[in-house]
Amino acid sequence: MDFEKGGLWRNWVGNQSCIARYKAAPTQEAQLCEMVAEADRLDLNLRVAGSGHSFTPVVGTGGLLLSLAQMQGVSHVDHAKKKVTVAAGTRIHDLAIQLKSHGLSLVNQGDIDSQAVAGAFTTGTHGTGSTLGCLATAIVGLRLVQPDGSVLVVDGSDTDMLHAAQVTVGTLGVISELTLQVTDAYQLHEHLWRDDFETCMERHDELASTHRHFGFFWCPTAQSRHLYCLADTADAPRTTTKKTADVCEMKVIDISDRPVMHTPFEKIAYSSDIYPIEYIPNFHELEYAVPVQHGKEAVRAVRDLMLNKHTHCLFPIEYRFTAGDPAWISPFYQQDSITLSVSGQPGVDYWDYLRDVDAILRRYKARPHWGKMHFLDTDDVTALYPRAEDFRALRRKLDPKGRFLNDHVRMLLG
Ligand SMILES: Cc1cc2nc3c(=O)[nH]c(=O)nc-3n(C[C@H](O)[C@H](O)[C@H](O)COP(=O)(O)OP(=O)(O)OC[C@H]3O[C@@H](n4cnc5c(N)ncnc54)[C@H](O)[C@@H]3O)c2cc1C
Repeated sequence: MDFEKGGLWRNWVGNQSCIARYKAAPTQEAQLCEMVAEADRLDLNLRVAGSGHSFTPVVGTGGLLLSLAQMQGVSHVDHAKKKVTVAAGTRIHDLAIQLKSHGLSLVNQGDIDSQAVAGAFTTGTHGTGSTLGCLATAIVGLRLVQPDGSVLVVDGSDTDMLHAAQVTVGTLGVISELTLQVTDAYQLHEHLWRDDFETCMERHDELASTHRHFGFFWCPTAQSRHLYCLADTADAPRTTTKKTADVCEMKVIDISDRPVMHTPFEKIAYSSDIYPIEYIPNFHELEYAVPVQHGKEAVRAVRDLMLNKHTHCLFPIEYRFTAGDPAWISPFYQQDSITLSVSGQPGVDYWDYLRDVDAILRRYKARPHWGKMHFLDTDDVTALYPRAEDFRALRRKLDPKGRFLNDHVRMLLG
C-alpha cells in the first residue's frame, strides 16, 4: 500500500502543528486496519487527527497522520437499550442530527459540537451538570485498531478494559467506531442572566443542586464577554441590585416539555440545539478539574490573581461541574469536580499567567483537561491518577513499540 505524501497539519486555533511524512483518510474499517499494519511494517508512528480542537500537542506526528473524516454516521440504533453505534470520524453536530431523527439525545454535551466523536469523547470532554459525567461515560463499547491491523473489541464484558478505553488520548489504538449510551430525546430550557461575583458564590451550591446544568463565566471587565462571544445579558433581570464592575454571566438549563421559544435570555429547544455556543479562534485555553469541595476557594484565588497581578488578562474564567467517573485516566476519575478554565491571548506571552494559575490549582490536586493547556509531567500524572501505572502497563502490552505515541503523550502516558 502506498501512502499519499503528507505535509503540514495545524489545529483549529493554530498553536499546534506538525509536518507529517504521510497522510491518509480511510473510508472504512478494513482499509484503516491495512493502513495501521502498513505503518507498522514501515516503522512509522501514527496519530489520528479529529477536528483539531485540542490546544495541546495530542495530535502531531512526523509519521503517518490519519483523518477519519470519511468514516461517518450512525450504523446501528438499539431503541430498546438506547444505544447507538457511530463511526469515529462523525462530528458531534452530525451525530445529534441523526439522534434527533431517532427520537434520541446525548445525555450531555460541551460548549461546541464541531469535534469528531472519537476526539471529543476519548479526551474527557465534558459539559456542565453536577450529576452528569463527562462524555466518555456514555461509551459502552469501542473498536480499537491495533498495531498489527487487528481489531480489539471492547464491549463492557470486561469492565476494567472498558474503563481503561473510555479516555485514551489516542494511545490504545485507532478507534474506528464507538457504541454510546444515549437517552430519549429531551428539550432544554436555558436561562441566562448576570450577577455579581459574591451573589454567584452565595448561590453556587443551590444553583448546582437544583438545575440539571449550571455554569458561569466570570468576566473581569465589561469587554471580557466579547472575547468569548458571550450573549450580552446587561438587560437580563439580576437576583441582586448590586452593580459591580466584575460580573458573572450565569447560565442554568433544565429539561422542559414546553414548546420551543427564543427570547434574548431564555431559549427552549431540542437538547443539542441548546448546548453549543459560538467561539472564534482567538484564545489558548487552560482548564483543570478541581475537586468540587474546593471549587469556590479555587475560583476566588484565580480571580484575585487576575485582579491583582495579571490585570491585562481579560478572557473570562469559565466554571462548570462534572460528576466523578470510573475511567482510569479521566480528569474526573472517582472525583466530583468543578472545571475552571482561563485563556491566554494568542500573540502575547501569557506563560507566567498560566503558570500562576497552574500553581494555584495544583494546591487542590486538580487534573488538567488532556486537550487544553497544562504543565503536567510524567510524575504529576502518576501522582494524580491512581490507575496511571495500570494504564501505562496496558498501553505497553497493546502497543510495545509505541506506534501510537508522539513525544507529548509518551511523556504523559508512555
Ligand atoms: C472552541 C473550543 C471549545 C471547546 N469546548 C469544550 C467543552 O465545552 N468541554 C470540554 O471538555 N472540552 C472542550 N474543548 C476541548 C475539545 O473538546 C477537546 O480538545 C477534544 O479532544 C477535541 O476533539 P477533536 O475531534 O478536535 O480532537 P483532536 O483535538 O483532533 O484530537 C484529540 C485526541 O483524540 C485523538 N483521536 C481523535 N480521533 C481518534 C480516533 N479515531 N482514534 C484514536 N484517537 C483519536 C487524537 O489523536 C488526539 O489525541 C473545546 C475546544 C475548543 C477549541
